Amino acid sequence: MRTGISVLEARAIVLEQARPLAPEVVAFEAALGRVLAEDVRSSRTLPPADCSAMDGYAVRAADVAAPGAQLRIAYEVAAGAHAPRALAAGEAARIFTGAPLPPGADTVVRQEDTEARAGEVRVQVAVPRRESVREAGEDVRAGDLVLEASARIGPPEVGMLAALGKTLVHVHRRPSVAVLSGGDELVEPHEEPTNGRIVSSNAYSIAAQCREAGSTPNNLGIARDTPGDLERLLRAGLGADVLVSSAGVSVGDHDHVRPTLEKLGVRLAFWGVEMKPGYPITFGRADDGRGAFVFGLPGNPVSALVTFELFVRPLLLALAGRSDLARPEVTAIAGEAFRKKPGREHYVRVFLAKRGDGWIATTTGNQSSGVLRSMTLADGLLVFPAAASEIAAGARARVIVLDESVFARPAA
Ligand code: AMP
Ligand code: MG
Repeated sequence: MRTGISVLEARAIVLEQARPLAPEVVAFEAALGRVLAEDVRSSRTLPPADCSAMDGYAVRAADVAAPGAQLRIAYEVAAGAHAPRALAAGEAARIFTGAPLPPGADTVVRQEDTEARAGEVRVQVAVPRRESVREAGEDVRAGDLVLEASARIGPPEVGMLAALGKTLVHVHRRPSVAVLSGGDELVEPHEEPTNGRIVSSNAYSIAAQCREAGSTPNNLGIARDTPGDLERLLRAGLGADVLVSSAGVSVGDHDHVRPTLEKLGVRLAFWGVEMKPGYPITFGRADDGRGAFVFGLPGNPVSALVTFELFVRPLLLALAGRSDLARPEVTAIAGEAFRKKPGREHYVRVFLAKRGDGWIATTTGNQSSGVLRSMTLADGLLVFPAAASEIAAGARARVIVLDESVFARPAA
């Protein structure tokens, strides 16, 4: 087991064995946010035939080459209808958006460019051939590879699946995550925390992070600080794809997580990452054939959130088939001086303000790893490099953006 490694090394270890989970078949409407596990080819041509892009008149281009053409209105074609016969020279067909072009017609004149009277229509302008015609197959041709395996399904993809009649689709399974908390001081949110007890908020912030990353959390509850109780819950958690436990992973007398995981056959790859908040984090994989990924996150609420962000989130995305694992980042100007001891990489909770076309980062307040408030305020995490001891006011710094609404904010 490695110890005292960098964030980069730790993340590489976590992602090393991450493969997209096996596909499952879901209804296309339920596939939003999922990642395709198959190539989707079309058996259809879209649009299926040449059709009108406008309300107006279908005509023969030769008849409207010069402005002022006078044509006889032969019939009408509505969307979903068919022309009763081919269009002859000197004729126009009243046509509506999406209606198929009558045989013989090759051009559509917009209604706005015409004047109809007594069964005849006058076309005021010269109209080029194929104007306002949607070509058969201009969207999709039969046999086209329309959506590729590994594509993420957003609203346009859901619409495309519908258009193709692809009602069932193979997508990567969502990871299941067992969430477990440990500590004799912990109570559930509906309980009154008396005698110095505190609410197990981590279980809820972690479950929320899981959902945000497209996975399905299952809260296993609170393990007491006894090896027996912890073993019972951790064992249950190994049935999930990923087990995320928080607290009890440090070096205190009541920190039973590591020995218990090892007893359960979890091979720990590392303990201790040179970062703050969040040094005492451990990661490994069960050697039971199922191979659950196991995280022992630190107990402090901000440490749990930040280590989840840096290590668990990318794993969950990778298991779901995603290849875009990183949050957006910006280069910001430090709005004040930041100082620390060299050695560990710090993730500083910051506000981001848009100034001109750049960003200014300022602290959200007390950076203690137990102060959840300054995390609720944070737009991002400023990455304070391990070896550095100061980021001077006005210097540039990398900021991981947690709240993408910053991009939509007006500049000050
Ligand atoms: P530990 O790692 O068990 O020493 O816990 C570190 C700190 O995190 C302690 O102050 C705990 O009270 C706190 N803590 C542990 N688990 C949770 C939890 N589930 N929710 C909120 N705080 C917690
Ligand atoms: Mg504890």
